[in-house]
Amino acid sequence: MDPNQVGDIIFKSKLPDIIIPNHLPLHTYCFQNISQFNNRPCLINGSNDQIYTYADVELTSRKVAIGLNKLGVQQKDTIMILLPNSPEFVFTFLGASYIGAISTMANPLFTQVEVMKQAKASNAKLIITQECNFNKVKHYAFENDVKVICIDGHSSSEGYLHFSDLISNSGFTSKHDHLPEMEIHPDDVVALPYSSGTTGLPKGVMLTHKGLVTSVAQQVDGENPTLFFHSEDVILCISPLFHIYALDSVLLCGLRVGATILLMKKFDVVTCLELVQKYKVTIGPFVPPIILAIAKSQVVDNYDLSSVRIVISGAAPLGKKLEEVVGIKFPNAKLGQGYGMTEAGAPITMCLAFAKEPFEIKSGACGTVIRNAEMKIVDPDTGISLPRNKPGEICIRGDQIMKGYLNDPEATKRTIDKEGWLHSGDIGYIDDDDELFIVDRLKELIKYKGFQVAPAELEALLLNLSNISDAAVVSMKDEQTGEVPVAFVVRSNGSIITEDEIKDFISKQVIFYKRIKRIFFVDVIPKSPSGKILRKDLRARLAAELPN
Ligand code: AMP
Repeated sequence: MDPNQVGDIIFKSKLPDIIIPNHLPLHTYCFQNISQFNNRPCLINGSNDQIYTYADVELTSRKVAIGLNKLGVQQKDTIMILLPNSPEFVFTFLGASYIGAISTMANPLFTQVEVMKQAKASNAKLIITQECNFNKVKHYAFENDVKVICIDGHSSSEGYLHFSDLISNSGFTSKHDHLPEMEIHPDDVVALPYSSGTTGLPKGVMLTHKGLVTSVAQQVDGENPTLFFHSEDVILCISPLFHIYALDSVLLCGLRVGATILLMKKFDVVTCLELVQKYKVTIGPFVPPIILAIAKSQVVDNYDLSSVRIVISGAAPLGKKLEEVVGIKFPNAKLGQGYGMTEAGAPITMCLAFAKEPFEIKSGACGTVIRNAEMKIVDPDTGISLPRNKPGEICIRGDQIMKGYLNDPEATKRTIDKEGWLHSGDIGYIDDDDELFIVDRLKELIKYKGFQVAPAELEALLLNLSNISDAAVVSMKDEQTGEVPVAFVVRSNGSIITEDEIKDFISKQVIFYKRIKRIFFVDVIPKSPSGKILRKDLRARLAAELPN
């Protein structure tokens, strides 16, 4: 039934809509107010305490833009950023934006197989990485005539250029030098993160200049911003910039308001606490496993965390117990959740306790739908929109959502319907106070510490083994990580392949968090008449057999 026949029930933010300058290219929008904070610290490299002012970041990004262009990167070309959080990540992302190029970001810990898949699928023309990753990319680079730039290492005879060459190539000497005229359309893609969405393999999520400008504005613009960040803030960037959460809600929001962004390359509790104390961090955008690690740390009480005024939990569900702990460990912080999705161009809902004029919030809530957007909750079977307090699939509509999946119109159609609603694959309800509570996940996605694991990717690898005739991967709850992938496997006739052999085979091909934690041998994988794996049945079997 067409949901419009019964009239959609649409939820909006409690904050009024604002005017969003989403005709601007992303870099122009982010630096629109730069004259007010030119000499203020923009980035701090937590690994070596190096500080870059706003003027430094803007100029270096423009130099990188020219350097990329001189290396043959054209408007609408894609470059791959295979880096941990680092100033070079920021310069490259912004540099690409300046010349209308697209950045596809990938986890630097990916295996060679994973990097190659994304580089090929996105048709990356240049890769920026570290020397330790050169081996993972050099074959792809050689075969496809792709340039590699390393941010460390020394030798250009190794087959890569050094990041400093990129900057010196630009010929730029001062802020008065200009970039070539470039007409960037608001609908041009600027970022291409990979996400499996509601089903299947990871796909390139096309985020446009307009989409990301809208998303940032929804969070930090307006008289009463949803996220009240300002230029005195120090925001800890511990979540990886290759994921939309940190890219959008930390880096781009931070730049827009002139805050200082403290980049942390790799999480470890002690370094994190030291940095919070040393730089008087005010905003902590975390994921639940990091909050758990801080909560469980033996040394947390030795540090002064009183500077922190906001703790945001995002990218995965936050349990009630952890909420309580945050209140104790961060005595002056307001805690709240943001709920987002790569395809939604980042947050779908945000806690309104973070607004300049804050609202009362409830424990367990994921916040209220962001401003300048619409949300509805639909019955997954009938598509009919549901009233308050009735759980259904969360759908979001607005200028911030993705343009679609790269080269995959079918998957795009399955995710964004004809009326422009993006279907999240998450189940939740809106309560009487406009707060969203997430209760389940309809989609296959597994989230390990906020990182995506796509069952289809692991199933394809399992089926490469001739000893396996069928396989299904589902999530299993785990206290430390949230969820882990486990597999149900049907051995081929006569095969005696063992759990360890299978795990070993997979481990060699995937990043650590995609490793299969348990294998259950079964006679048959339950499927619907159309051949779809009945994952719910498998999850129910897990819950019944492994109560923990
Ligand atoms: P990603 O595209 O990697 O950001 O993953 C998006 C998915 O993460 C969402 O569709 C949810 O399933 C999950 N997620 C994100 N934020 C939250 C949250 N606050 N609570 C529960 N699940 C979340």
